[in-house]
Formats: sequence, structure tokens, C-alpha cells
Amino acid sequence: MEQSRGLRLILFPLPFQGHINPMLELGNLLHSKGFSITIVHTKFNSLNPSSHPHFTFHSIPVDLSESEASMKEAGRLLSLINAKCVEPFRECLATLLSDAEEDPVACLISDPLLHFTRSVAESFELPRILLRTGGAASFAVYAAFPLLKEKGYLPIQDSRLEEPVTELSPFKVKDLPRLDTCDPESFYQLITNMANEPKASSGLIFNTFEDLEQHALATLRQDSYPNIPIFPIGPFHKCDSAASSSSTGLLTEDQSCISWLNTQAPKSVVYVSFGSIAAVKEAQFLEIAWGLANSNQPFLWVVRPGFVHGSEPFPRGFVESLNGRGHIVQWAPQKQVLAHPAVGAFWTHNGWNSTLESVCEGVPMICMPCFTDQLVNARYASDVWKVGLQLEDGMERCMIEKTIRKLMVEKEGEEIRDRALKLMEKANLCFNRGGSSCQSLDGLVKHILSLEP
Ligand code: UDP
Repeated sequence: MEQSRGLRLILFPLPFQGHINPMLELGNLLHSKGFSITIVHTKFNSLNPSSHPHFTFHSIPVDLSESEASMKEAGRLLSLINAKCVEPFRECLATLLSDAEEDPVACLISDPLLHFTRSVAESFELPRILLRTGGAASFAVYAAFPLLKEKGYLPIQDSRLEEPVTELSPFKVKDLPRLDTCDPESFYQLITNMANEPKASSGLIFNTFEDLEQHALATLRQDSYPNIPIFPIGPFHKCDSAASSSSTGLLTEDQSCISWLNTQAPKSVVYVSFGSIAAVKEAQFLEIAWGLANSNQPFLWVVRPGFVHGSEPFPRGFVESLNGRGHIVQWAPQKQVLAHPAVGAFWTHNGWNSTLESVCEGVPMICMPCFTDQLVNARYASDVWKVGLQLEDGMERCMIEKTIRKLMVEKEGEEIRDRALKLMEKANLCFNRGGSSCQSLDGLVKHILSLEP
């Protein structure tokens, strides 16, 4: 710890919610180990420095118009961010590295989707470590994309969705990452480029823990990246005491969630949120709404602006018909919500952060993955950890109602609920003295100190 004092780390998150949160939490962890932390962020989705007064923030002049920022073409959006950031980041790094008043910089920590950071860091001979904000299992699937292509699983064919991927148990073809807003070849390129990034880095950090993804971590270490040190030091927010108090949300959290939850019976509420990007069509939205209403369970539902393509068509009389049994907000303090004793299930899109946050609170999941790594995370939740049920037989309201009741009140859900609590206990242990994430974090600190910028 003493050696890290007087050294600075530069952290550059991809400017999206699911990437920003873990990067800032990692910053807190490394700050607690003595490093000074500088965050580089874009004007697009810019961060609020006052939420982290112990960090230094540097904004680079990179903005996107509303149409450029549209998730309708996610591949193009990522290429644009990578292209627009190169020069402003180079200038920013030159300034940061030449500032004699500041602590010397030990390394850059960036997201593997920001691939331009490689050449910029190399030009300053600055070591670069990557933080992958998704899970290890999905990264192992990404690293296997060339093999999956060679074996004919990719590009995905609709006629083969139910076939098992024998090389990657327990996945079926339908669980392989895909992105409907990106053509299959561009998506393949995007993923293989990202999965190659660690090979040119000084290390790879995951927000996960050994007991959760042991097998995938072993595959990554042995097969995919035998020469790169890998550090599973999550769940970050469990060790980062500042995580629950300092908001990193791009939208304002509606605290009415908590007072509403305070009025509900223990483990009775279904918390429903599909993260910061996923969106549904109007017809799906109606099925979700009526499925929730018909389940007879109280629910807290995050309906983010833009969640529904088109308008936000709450069925006429829907909200009134709930008689207070449902609470709807635009953005929730999710970690606080999941930790609340009234919450009994999480209907999630299985973004990695949401999945991990649910695991940490022992909340069983209803899994409705939408794209990319969410499909892998959902299969893990339902078939490997067995702490959730997938909505696999369609999104009709009767299926939704049935699945909610099965998970929350029926005998069949009892084992799932029990396993979720047991998995939470494992998550709680990893930051204890000698716990796997605690050791891995110490390993990361030593590794950073051994790098020669
Ligand atoms: N989140 C939140 N309030 C909400 C919905 C989501 O604070 O109402 C947070 C959630 O806790 C998580 C992040 O936003 O940390 C979403 O990340 P995730 O990886 O689950 O999904 P993504 O948004 O990247 O699809």
C-alpha cells in the first residue's frame, strides 16, 4: 500500500452506464489501496466529478449528436467513439503525463471496446491494463468466436437455434451472443477485435469472483490468454463501501422506490428492470404490463425513457387498476432496491452488472436476455448456478404470470430461491481476509507496481 501512494492510475471507461459503474467502483478499490485516480471521460454521457471528489476528472471534447448516439446501430456507434476519441485522448494523455505537479502515472486502465487506447498508450510507452465489465463466461465465448465460425455455428442460423454447442457446454446456438442492430459479419469483427485486445495488454481485470465463474476463468487462463495475468476481483460494489452512497447514474435515481418498498411484505416484490440500453416493441411492453398485473404480486418496474420503441403506451386504466400494487419509475437506485428485504425476485435482461448485483443479494432471477453477453449470462443464471428461470417459451402475458408465480410462491421455485441465498453467501466470502477477490486485488496491486512505464 505504501508503495502505491504517490502513483497515479488513469482510468478510461466506455461512456455507457453498464461500463461506467464498474470502472468507477474499480477506481474506488484501487484508491483504497493508495493510488491516486484520474478518470478520463467524454463530453458524451459525461460524468459528474462531484460524485467522486477523491478522483481527478478530465473531460475530452468528444460529443455525439442524438442520431449518432442511437443504439439502433450499435456497431457503428462503437466505431464512431473509437474514431472520435483518438486525437483528443492523445492530447489529454500528453498533458497528464507531462504534469510535473501530479503523481507519476503507473498505467492506463481502459475498456477492451476502446481499442484505440492501445496505440495511444503504446506511443507513450504507457502500460495498459483492461477492465472487462462483462463476465468471464461470456468473454470465453467471445474468445471462441473464431472456433464457432469454423465449426459453422456462426453466423447463427434460425433453423439451428435449439442445437447444443458441443464445444461449449451448456450453451445452445440460441445462447450465443448476437446483436440484431449489427450485421453478423460486423458483429463478428467487433467481437474478435475486442477479444484480441487482452493479448496486447498488461493484464485483464474482471468484475467477478472465482467461485462464480471458476471454469470460464480457467479456460481464459489456459486456452485464450496463457500469457496475460487475469484478475477476478469482484463483485466490486461489495467491497467498495462508497458504491451504494455515490450515484454514478446518468439518469436521476427515483428514491420513492425505497419508501414504497418499505410498505411491502418481505420477499413479495418483483423488481423489473432491463438496464440502460435494452428496448422493447409496443406489443411486448403490453405483455409485460399485463403479465405483471395478472401475477398478483406487487412489482417495482423501471420504465426508462426510450424503453419502448414509439410511445410509452401504458394500457388505458392500467396504472389505476393496480390499486398501489405496482410502482413505476424511470430509474431506480438498483443496488439499494435489490438489497431491500421486500424484494423477492428480479426480472432482468441479465446485463452483467444486474446479474452480479442480483447474485450478491441472493435475489432469484427471471431471465429475459435481449442481446450480446446477456444471453450467456442468462443461461448461466438458469442452468449453471440454477438461481433463475428463463422466459423461454415466449413473452405472452400468461407465461409471464406463470413464471413469476412459479419462482416466487410455488414449491417448484423454493430450490431456486434457496440456491440464490447460498450463492450470495459465496459472494460475501470473497472479500473476507484471504478470500479469492481480496487476494486477487492484492495481486493486481503488486502487478501494477511491477510495471515499468
Ligand atoms: N441501474 C440502476 N437503476 C436502474 C437500472 C439500472 O442503477 O433503474 C444500474 C444497475 O444497477 C447496473 C447498471 O445500471 O449497475 C446496468 O448495467 P447492466 O450491465 O446490468 O446492463 P446494461 O445497462 O449495460 O445493459
